[in-house]
Amino acid sequence: MRILLYRADGVIEPWVREFAALMPQVETVAWKEGQSLPPCDYAVVWSPEPALLDQLAHVRAIFLMGAGVDALLKLGAALPPVPIVRLGDAGMGVQMAEYVAHAVLRYFRRFEEYEQQARHGAWNPLPQTPKEEFTIGIMGLGRLGLPVVEALRVFGFTVRGWSRTPKDIPGVECFHGADGLDPFLRATRVLVCMLPLTPDTSNLLDRHNLGKLLPGAYLINVSRGAILAEPDLMTLIRSGHIVGATLDVFRHEPLPAPHPFWNEPRIAITPHISALTIRHDAVRQIAEKITALENGQPVGDIVDRDLGY
Ligand code: NDP
Repeated sequence: MRILLYRADGVIEPWVREFAALMPQVETVAWKEGQSLPPCDYAVVWSPEPALLDQLAHVRAIFLMGAGVDALLKLGAALPPVPIVRLGDAGMGVQMAEYVAHAVLRYFRRFEEYEQQARHGAWNPLPQTPKEEFTIGIMGLGRLGLPVVEALRVFGFTVRGWSRTPKDIPGVECFHGADGLDPFLRATRVLVCMLPLTPDTSNLLDRHNLGKLLPGAYLINVSRGAILAEPDLMTLIRSGHIVGATLDVFRHEPLPAPHPFWNEPRIAITPHISALTIRHDAVRQIAEKITALENGQPVGDIVDRDLGY
């Protein structure tokens, strides 16, 4: 069996080593612009170029080295008509839970303010917001959203969720679809965005929707930058309706140097690190799925091109 390994950043060697360890019977091949590809059974890629996709019409499946599929689906007609399989959790769920729980607790326990006070030598206990006033709303209850829900419930927060289709999660009030968005937002103090970027979710977090959050709201966006209307967030932060945001993803990455977010102290910025691909877990997952496909068994995490995720 021959598998193509391709990453736009060119960092392929560590992936070659993982495949050699987990699938020693497999030959892995690399590709560079201008080369023609020998026939391959599968492709494992991240940010492939159209010139490469043109050569993948005969692979049995294209595996992605990550969970987000928006950049690939944007290529539209260039995509060969073969199944596209995204990474499932593969170690990312726990990282998302760590990141979001940290951000929520930082706001809830007022650590930012204590850090500021400490810099000025101030010993000044602040009033604690009652937990029942700190409702958390998770948008996206998928493979990465659910571990976040579980992690936050450990601390006794009221967690509510919103998804496209109805969900039944014990102890979590669930909303879905366009009709469920308004009641979901209106009782949310901390909004956590874990949605995929699709035509339906692009710019969903705009002035209109963010304005429905409880006054003194917080936003945590860990999914895709284009779901957020960035100028609208600035407006709501300046008005005081939103009092803090933790952003891991941006419309343009790296976040450009002259961007108002850099100078806004109420916005915490991280460089798209909330859940990194753990190579060993990813290759193990891909290897298991290739074995299943070879045995004629179904595999999960196949991208629905119509839904966009
Ligand atoms: P899933 O596909 O498992 O879950 C997506 C969730 O979003 C589902 O609950 C789905 O609803 C919901 N959803 C999708 N469209 C809509 C809509 N129009 N309205 C309401 N709900 C909707 O994805 P993951 O949890 O694995 O990942 C989520 C995103 O996180 C990825 O798409 C990626 O962009 C991002 N990501 C970011 C990383 C980072 O480091 N910052 C790392 C990895 C991923 P339903 O359950 O009804 O289908």
